[in-house]
Amino acid sequence: KMAAPTSVRFLHEKAYVNGKWTEAASGKTFDVVNPSNGKKIGVVPDMDATDTQNAIQFAQTAFESWKETTAKERSVILRKWSELCMQNKDELAKLLTLENGKPLAEATGEVMYGTSFMEWFAEEARRVYGDIIQSPAKSKKILVFKQPIGVAGMITPWNFPNAMITRKACAAIAAGCTVVLKPAEDTPYSALALCELAEKAGLPPGVLNIVTCSRSNAGEVGKMLCENPMVKKISFTGSTVVGKILLQQSASTVKKVSMELGGNAPFIVFDSADLDQAVNGTMVSKFRCSGQTCVCANRILVQEGIYPKYIQKLAEVMSRDLKIGDGFESGTTQGPLINSNAVEKVDGHVQDAIQKGAKLVLGGQKKGGNFYAPTLLQDVTLDMKCAKEEIFGPIAAIHKFKTEEEVIKIANATTAGLAGYFFSQNISQVWRMAEKLEYGLIGVNEGLFSMTEAPFGGWKESGLGSEGSKYGLNEYLEIKYVCLGGM
Ligand code: ADP
Repeated sequence: KMAAPTSVRFLHEKAYVNGKWTEAASGKTFDVVNPSNGKKIGVVPDMDATDTQNAIQFAQTAFESWKETTAKERSVILRKWSELCMQNKDELAKLLTLENGKPLAEATGEVMYGTSFMEWFAEEARRVYGDIIQSPAKSKKILVFKQPIGVAGMITPWNFPNAMITRKACAAIAAGCTVVLKPAEDTPYSALALCELAEKAGLPPGVLNIVTCSRSNAGEVGKMLCENPMVKKISFTGSTVVGKILLQQSASTVKKVSMELGGNAPFIVFDSADLDQAVNGTMVSKFRCSGQTCVCANRILVQEGIYPKYIQKLAEVMSRDLKIGDGFESGTTQGPLINSNAVEKVDGHVQDAIQKGAKLVLGGQKKGGNFYAPTLLQDVTLDMKCAKEEIFGPIAAIHKFKTEEEVIKIANATTAGLAGYFFSQNISQVWRMAEKLEYGLIGVNEGLFSMTEAPFGGWKESGLGSEGSKYGLNEYLEIKYVCLGGM
């Protein structure tokens, strides 16, 4: 049994602006709390719109010289940064578990995933190509340039305090942009830790700025990022509600936007599925980060022929493999939820389902503090809250269906379109389903698919744009058509 560390490296209680550890102008701070035991970890500055405006000005000044660096120069710094993060991955993971609560092994996995974006975009930076296009007019030549868009404003969530920062910021930095980023109030330390290592890697002042603020200042800080004309790009990961606000605010200056918003993932198990594969897929998709990821299985839809066997097996594996506890205790697979509101919300979903006729197979209780028992509900119907909304907790809610046509309709009957999963051994069914599901990310016989090489992005109200992959850099580049005439 391992206790929470008594001291953690890379814990900075200041924001990071223009290469300096910075206080809020008001001098105000707010507390950051370990969700596992409710103890205060430390404080960070509670910055406001004016602090944010200053950071934007520094980022703009830095952009003037950063955009003149060569792709190779940016690549070298990103690669160095990735090496430093890998060398310090255990310490970064500890800090992440401390503020987010997820098990240390998962935190280490996140740090490695997060660092993979530094390495990837170090490589991609050098593969930005323009074009020369065949012209219909002899005297006019058609050239296409790709250039960095400018200062990028970013707002990130608490469920991936490291990887959501790097997936955005490394793409921007590789493209030649500079960044002002507001991390989630629950998990600012992982973002700040990255700045220390970025500085060591040689990233110049003003290229990456982290503005911390409490939930009560998030609105004004977000508004400043969206409405300030120096900011040319907004990238957000978080709830659909907040995404819509930011999209509206960004309209005032016609900013380019990327949005990674909420999901309502269907997880479909057909009669032809390999049972063990489907159950293992459910475990990783449903219970990672205690069910608090936007790609977590939300509506588990199981065909009637395999329904009883699937539920029995899932109940067995859940009882055997899921262990609630502090993220630093070895063997823990289920850390706490992020805060008490999350516990109330998740419990509300469970009570609503039971009251409307779902059968509770496992769990269904608060376990003290921010902990909630991994829960299995069967005979869930589509009128229940847990089918209509994103659960964001360790609740496996199982629906029964009869036919493929029926399940396609159910799966697509939502405004969300982030992740969808299905399990089938029938190759023509696999093809049909992969085409028909209206989702940006599809797992076929697979519950875990996020990789730096693959594009991450949602359809419908789940988002705009793609992150990671060969598509990710485009979010930070402008296309310029140059017509060379008088030839
Ligand atoms: P969650 O409910 O999971 O915390 P949110 O979308 O509310 O998801 O939070 C994601 C990020 O958005 C966090 O960094 C949070 O501080 C920020 N945020 C929340 N409300 C606003 C707002 N009105 N404007 C800008 N950012 C916001």
